Amino acid sequence: MTVNPTVTLNNGVPMPQLGYGVFQIPDAEAATAVGTALREGYRSVDTAAVYGNEEGTGAALAASGIPREELFVTTKLWNGASTTWTRDLVLREFDASLTRLGLDHVDLYLIHWPHPMRDEYLTIWRAFEEIARSGRARAIGVSNFQPAQLRRLIAETGTVPAVNQIELHPWLQQAELRSLHTELGIATEAWSPLGQGKLLDAPVLAKIAAKHGRTPAQVVLRWHLQLGNVVIPKSATPSRIRENIDVLGFELDQDDLGAIAALDNGTRLGPDPDTFD
Ligand code: NAD
Repeated sequence: MTVNPTVTLNNGVPMPQLGYGVFQIPDAEAATAVGTALREGYRSVDTAAVYGNEEGTGAALAASGIPREELFVTTKLWNGASTTWTRDLVLREFDASLTRLGLDHVDLYLIHWPHPMRDEYLTIWRAFEEIARSGRARAIGVSNFQPAQLRRLIAETGTVPAVNQIELHPWLQQAELRSLHTELGIATEAWSPLGQGKLLDAPVLAKIAAKHGRTPAQVVLRWHLQLGNVVIPKSATPSRIRENIDVLGFELDQDDLGAIAALDNGTRLGPDPDTFD
């Protein structure tokens, strides 16, 4: 089994640097997929209310027999739902996620998108602060927040998110957000860390992979870890689930890191957070 390094969040809670993402895994398959990941050594799972697989994920966590304190479970509020967000509604949605997961607390609860046009994230964040105070989320954070939204959230509420989970991969390296996160004490968590598999045939990755006797996916995950990012690669294929956690026994050198830095071309694979409504 591989030992998973952790990052320490700004409230002292340790978070595994490498976790398992379950976007697009149907609920009926989530129990099997998450079960495989847990057997392969993953201890952190990233789900969301909108993924529709919190029940299958929770079933795998329960069936694993792994002590709760060894697991790190993240879920997200689907604040894109067509409703007007109030404190009570956030608390109800959080309770519903806990019930579906079969847990009495999560380790990390995230606002899924800023939805700036709706201008509701301050109301939502104040409810998140209450959830954190109650101990039912060990840490609270955001996802897809841009610099101006992070600064406003902190200025208005005084609570710095523990994490900002953003699209981040070699095509979209997010230098500005990463340095702002460092300045503010926010952990950077990369979604679509493998670029959804679309960038893995870049010749430079094949070259670096051959040099280390690894695969392009392992090289990309190693790059994230060396930058200090938290990563949550997704695969439903057992051999890839195993491959994606086997990234601790080698080190990229400065030439490798420079060659991967040069792949940054600003390509977004998901929605633009400033316009996604
Ligand atoms: P990813 O970069 O993890 O890519 C997953 C895809 O890459 C797989 O479906 C497969 O096609 C391929 N792949 C995986 N392992 C491979 C390997 N070893 N070799 C070759 N190909 C491989 O993309 P993702 O699923 O979009 O992102 C990961 C996780 O991030 C999600 O499951 C979810 O938990 C999270 N996420 C969050 C948001 C958000 O808005 N917060 C958005 C998207 C994803």
